[in-house]
Amino acid sequence: MPQRVETVFPDPQHDHAPCVAETLERAEKIFKNNGLSLTPLRRQVLQEVAGSHTAVGAYDILERLAQKGGRRLAPISVYRALDSLVAAGMVHRLESRNAFFACHVSHAGDRRQIVLACETCSAVAEVPGGSVFDGIGAAAAASTFKPTRTLVEVIGVCGRCQAGVPV
Ligand SMILES: [Zn+2]
Ligand SMILES: [Zn+2]
Ligand SMILES: [Zn+2]
Repeated sequence: MPQRVETVFPDPQHDHAPCVAETLERAEKIFKNNGLSLTPLRRQVLQEVAGSHTAVGAYDILERLAQKGGRRLAPISVYRALDSLVAAGMVHRLESRNAFFACHVSHAGDRRQIVLACETCSAVAEVPGGSVFDGIGAAAAASTFKPTRTLVEVIGVCGRCQAGVPV
């Protein structure tokens, strides 16, 4: 039996259905609270992104939707849906890979999350990064630099991959 690894990265064998259900439910609420609606397209796109704990590219989403729905959407509609999901905080952009991943943790509008991306299994997780962001803010301020957006992405190998646990 492989050793169990305690990590923010979910076990690859976990039942992922509740993760997707929770994400969709949270998105419904957020869009409603913002006076918007989770349109069928936004919902479909979110479902595709939330289908795993890895980051996916916009064209992969487009492909998957085309395979399922049998009809090819215009890339711009997928990008618009992604934009609205990113704005709602339900999807985050993994800048270093130009890909998107679903937010599976509720961090209630606090965007100061550190993104951990495993280069072996492609899993992505988020951890709170308040003090790191404070440090970046202080360093920027010391240079009279006014940040408009700060993001922290760490590329590496997750605990499970380090332990050689098959995924
Ligand atoms: Zn899951
Ligand atoms: Zn998040
Ligand atoms: Zn990994």
